[in-house]
Amino acid sequence: MVACPLTVFLSLAGSNVNIIMKRPLQKLTILGSTGSIGVSTLDVVVRHPEQFQVFALTANQRVEVLAQQCRQFHPRYAVLGSEAAAEQLRPLVGRGVEVLWGETGLALVAAHAEVDTVMAAIVGAAGLLPTLAAAKAGKKILLANKEALVMAGQLFMDVVAESKATLLPIDSEHNAIFQCLPADYRGREEAGVRRLLLSASGGPFRTTPLAELASMTPDQACAHPNWSMGRKISVDSATMMNKGLELIEASWLFAVDASDIDIVVHPQSIIHSLVEYKDGSVLAQLGNPDMRTPIAHALAWPERIDSGVSSLDLIAIASLDFEAQDEQRFPALALARAAAESRGDAPAALNAANEVAVEAFLNEAIGFTRIAEVVDGVMQTWQTDEPRDLLAVQDADQRARAMAKQVIDQYV
Ligand code: NAD
Ligand code: MG
Repeated sequence: MVACPLTVFLSLAGSNVNIIMKRPLQKLTILGSTGSIGVSTLDVVVRHPEQFQVFALTANQRVEVLAQQCRQFHPRYAVLGSEAAAEQLRPLVGRGVEVLWGETGLALVAAHAEVDTVMAAIVGAAGLLPTLAAAKAGKKILLANKEALVMAGQLFMDVVAESKATLLPIDSEHNAIFQCLPADYRGREEAGVRRLLLSASGGPFRTTPLAELASMTPDQACAHPNWSMGRKISVDSATMMNKGLELIEASWLFAVDASDIDIVVHPQSIIHSLVEYKDGSVLAQLGNPDMRTPIAHALAWPERIDSGVSSLDLIAIASLDFEAQDEQRFPALALARAAAESRGDAPAALNAANEVAVEAFLNEAIGFTRIAEVVDGVMQTWQTDEPRDLLAVQDADQRARAMAKQVIDQYV
């Protein structure tokens, strides 16, 4: 890391002593910079030019948006999903930015020796390889791409441990739990934790009459009451598969069994998750539903920086409600819990089947309630195996995708 000229004066309470600290400048790669998390990350970064320098930005196809970001942040590298998209970007950004494309480009900017911190904010299985590349290179990883951990949990955590990478959760629930755990957390028993409570908003269809669910459109599914997010995670929130994926994510991040994690529906999305200790104490993290809070927390950790998020007005919110999860309305929850308990390659299969089903729903090829049915169809016949390496994970992913397409073919 390079020392930056920023000098911070800390006045110790009750004393006249000033401590002078130098904050290191963090060089950042943002994987998926044109998405919802990517844009929020840049919004935090722009507030702290002395602390963060954008080293690389990546997008799949949105050339214009990436070009605009390059003009504003002057990264060393920009990476696109295809050669054709890279060709389009080159004349828009000039010579100062090196334009790469594809998996090799992503791996290069994720693992580059000059990079300190990698925001992993590509959506879906496409995020696995670059996030793993960052982990192998021992980077500080800000993990938004939960699918990487769902697919390759053991493998990913092993790589993080071997390379001494720093893994910080961006998902608001996991970031909340991280904040409620002791700084030297090593495991549930040792820390005296009884259980983790993942909070869930219940999404846009929490109170929709069950008979109407089948006819819900992609736009209705993407209209989340509290959060503004990309379309895939928005649909996952509507089916609550998102909470199922988060259950698996939490079990890996915090080394707990799925049975040690409960889900509580909390429609206001003010309490982002909770940790219950053996003595009955329950710690929670609260805040406005704005991803800039967990992003700023992880960017600056263990310090705190301004995120641009307004103060929480508890008087205006007035009340916080809690409900039990409804497995009849949200069958994806039980499917994800079963995959979490099976471990092995079951979560990778669940994730792959879900990605295929969500895409089919977004393309209006299947109805909303079919999403969980497709995943169920795949998981019913899935033979869980222990994936020994990345190839085995990718193989499970591909097989589950093919099976999901077969199930979908029966519906269309
Ligand atoms: P998004 O759809 O808004 O953005 C996705 C980004 O990934 C874009 O920059 C896109 O260009 C890039 N991308 C997509 N497919 C790609 C591919 N094949 N190769 C390379 N790049 C590709 O998604 P989002 O809402 O920002 O979510 C990103 C990740 O963060 C997801 O894993 C999601 O589950 C997680 N997450 C998001 C939120 C949120 O509030 N949006 C909250 C928690 C976790
Ligand atoms: Mg979340």
